[in-house]
Amino acid sequence: MSDGHQGSCLCGAVRFRTHGALRGVVYCHCSQCRKQSGHFYAATNVANADIVIEGKENITWYEAYAFARRGFCKACGSVMFWEPRHQDYISVMAGSFDKPTGLEGECHIFVGDKGDYYSIDDGLPQFEKSTPSIPVAE
Ligand SMILES: [Zn+2]
Ligand SMILES: [Zn+2]
Repeated sequence: MSDGHQGSCLCGAVRFRTHGALRGVVYCHCSQCRKQSGHFYAATNVANADIVIEGKENITWYEAYAFARRGFCKACGSVMFWEPRHQDYISVMAGSFDKPTGLEGECHIFVGDKGDYYSIDDGLPQFEKSTPSIPVAE
């Protein structure tokens, strides 16, 4: 697959392969994403039909809210997935992908909730909460 990508957690217990174009990277600055990641989220989306995850038994799912859950490697702690319920896609952390990722930044969401120790100055669109094209839990 020429347009395929792959990635893994830090220790390699969880691996994935994707097929097809990846969405631009959305940076989420909400407090949940900040606390779980240690900074902020940077994630792309992949249709469920276009991703194969190996080592699923090594994923711990944190039921963050009724709308979605957050997946990380139970061995090394790498934050990897954000999975909304009843949707046909999964969000995958940009940092989990092996290079070259081909990924590009798209926008920042929940900037109204961002940490107070950094600024956002990359020129990408910023949204106080979210934008209708990006489903999020709130
Ligand atoms: Zn791991
Ligand atoms: Zn968030």
